[in-house]
Amino acid sequence: MSLGSCVDLIMCFILFLLFIYIFASVTVTRLHKVYLAFHFSMMLWPYCQFAIKTVDNPVYQLFYVKLAFVDAAMLTTGWIFFIILISGQTQFLKRKLLMLLFIPASISSLGVVLNPNGWFVLPVNGGYVERIYGPIFWINISILIIHAIVSLYILYVALISDQADRIKNQVMYMLKGILAVTVFLLLDIFLNVVLDDYLPVIPGFTSLGIVISAIFFLITIRQDKVFDIVTIAHQDIIDTMEYGILVLDDQERVVEINQALHPFSVLKTGDRFDMRVILPDSADQAELFLHKYLKQPDESAEIEFLHPDSGLYISIQVAPIKVSAVRVGRIITFQNITELRRLINETNHQNTILQERNESLIKIQEELFQTNRKLMKMAITDSLTGCYNRHYLTQQLEKEVNRSRDYALPSALILIDIDFFKAVNDRYGHLAGDAVICGTVEVLQQTLRQDDILARYGGEEFIIYLPGTDEAQALAIAEQLRSNIESNKMSIDNIDHPVSVTISMGLLSVRDFKARQPKEASAYLSDLFKTVDQALYAAKHQGRNRIVPVKG
Ligand code: GH3
Ligand code: MG
Ligand code: MG
Repeated sequence: MSLGSCVDLIMCFILFLLFIYIFASVTVTRLHKVYLAFHFSMMLWPYCQFAIKTVDNPVYQLFYVKLAFVDAAMLTTGWIFFIILISGQTQFLKRKLLMLLFIPASISSLGVVLNPNGWFVLPVNGGYVERIYGPIFWINISILIIHAIVSLYILYVALISDQADRIKNQVMYMLKGILAVTVFLLLDIFLNVVLDDYLPVIPGFTSLGIVISAIFFLITIRQDKVFDIVTIAHQDIIDTMEYGILVLDDQERVVEINQALHPFSVLKTGDRFDMRVILPDSADQAELFLHKYLKQPDESAEIEFLHPDSGLYISIQVAPIKVSAVRVGRIITFQNITELRRLINETNHQNTILQERNESLIKIQEELFQTNRKLMKMAITDSLTGCYNRHYLTQQLEKEVNRSRDYALPSALILIDIDFFKAVNDRYGHLAGDAVICGTVEVLQQTLRQDDILARYGGEEFIIYLPGTDEAQALAIAEQLRSNIESNKMSIDNIDHPVSVTISMGLLSVRDFKARQPKEASAYLSDLFKTVDQALYAAKHQGRNRIVPVKG
C-alpha cells in the first residue's frame, strides 16, 4: 500500500481522532461519552462490510475485514459499559473488572490484526469478498457471545436490584437489543459461514441486528430520558441534598428515596411507607399530625420531634403532588434540625438570663430612685421636727422673688421663737426640750394652710412663708398660731404634768414679693430676714407671747 493511496485513510483517521478528542474533553456525562463511542462502533461494522465490496485490492479488503472484527470486539465491550451505566449498576465499574473485560477483546483483536498463518481469515479467489475463516475467527465470535452473556448477567442483576421498578422498562428494551444482535449474528454465521458451501452469501445480517439493537437502545434513551441532562442533574441534586426526600405514589408506596435517607431507613422503591412507624409516640402533637396525614392527604402538614433513639431533632414536612388538581402522590422531606434547635434553645436560655439581669437592674434602679428621693427629702428636711429646713425655705423664697409675675401678690414672713425655752431645757432636760419643739411644730403645721411653708430657722426658732397673703390675713393666721400654741398642752414622757409654751412672732407683710433690680434675690431676702428678726426682737422686748407686725 503506497503512502499516496493512504492519504485519505490517514485523513479519515485524524478526523476520527479529533472526534474522539472533542467528546472525551467536553463536559457531557460519562453515559453520553460511552454511548457516542458505542454508536460509532455500531456504524463502523456495516461500513466495513460495504467497503470490502467497493475495493478490488485484496490488501484493502483484508484491512476492512480486520477492522470490522476488531470493531466487533470493541463494540460488544462498549455495549457492556453502556448497559452498566444505563442500568445504574455502577458497582461493576471497577478497574480490575474492566481490565478483565478488555483483555480477551484485545487478545482476539491482536489475533485478527496479525492473522498468523491465515488463522483468522484466508482469501477465496485471491480476494476477501468471499473468505474462509480460521480458528481466531471462532475465538472472536466466542468472545462476542461471552460479552452478550456478561451483558445479560448485568441486566439480571439490575432486575433484582432496588432500582428494578424504576429501570424495568429500560432493561427490557436492552434485553431485546441484545437478543436481536445475537440472533442476527448467529444467523449470519450459520448461513454465511457454516452453510457457506451450500448457500450463496446473504449480506447484511449482522448489520441488521446492530441496527435493530440500536433502535431498541434509542427507544430506551428516548423513553426514559436517560440522556436528559436536566433529569440527570435533578437526580444528582436529590441525591446530594442534605434533606431526606421520600416520594410516595397515591398508594403510599415509595417511588423514590434519596441517598440522605439511606442511613436512617431500610425502605426501598416499591415498599409501603407507614408514617406511624416513623413517628415516636412521645412526639408533641403526634396524634394531630397523624390524623391530618391520614385523613387529609390533600393538605400539607409538618411536625417537629425529638427522635428518642438517635437524640436528633427531626422536622418532617409533607406536601401533596398534584397533577391537574388530582393528587398523584406526596413528597415528604426529613430535615435534621438538631443544630437549629440547639441554637434556639441556647438563644432562649441567653434571653432568660438577660431578662433576669434586666429585672434585677430595674429593681436596683427603683431602689436607687427611692434612695435618691430619701436623700433629696433629707436634704430639705429638718431631722428633729420633720418640717423643712432653712436651706429649703431660702431656696423656695429665692425662686419666688425671681419669678416674674404680671401682677403683684402680697405675701408674709413670720419668724417665731419659743419663749423662755432655756428654762424648759433646764427644768425638764434636753430630751423633753426636743419633745416640746416637736409638739410646737405639730401645732404650727396643723394651723397652717397647704401652700404655707414652715421651716426650722435654727434652735427653737421657725420661719413661715405665707404666699398670696395680705397683711390682715397674715395677722389673723399669726394670731391663730399664737393662741393655738398657748392653749396646747403637751404630755411629755417622764413628766407627770402637761407642758405648754408660748411663742413670740415678728410678722413681715410684703405687698410685692419681688427683688428690685439691681438687688439680687439673696440680698433682698437677707434684708427681709433682718427686718422680720427685728420685729421678733421687738415682740420679745414687749413682753413675749405676742406678734409684732412690720411692713416690707
Ligand atoms: P427667749 O424668750 O428670750 O427666747 O428666752 P430663751 O430661753 O428661749 O432664749 P433663747 O431663745 O436665746 O435660747 C434658746 C435656747 O434653746 C438655747 C438652747 O439651749 C436651746 N436650744 C436650741 N436648740 C435646741 C434644741 O434643738 N433642743 C433643745 N432641747 N434645746 C435647744
Ligand atoms: Mg431663741
Ligand atoms: Mg427662745
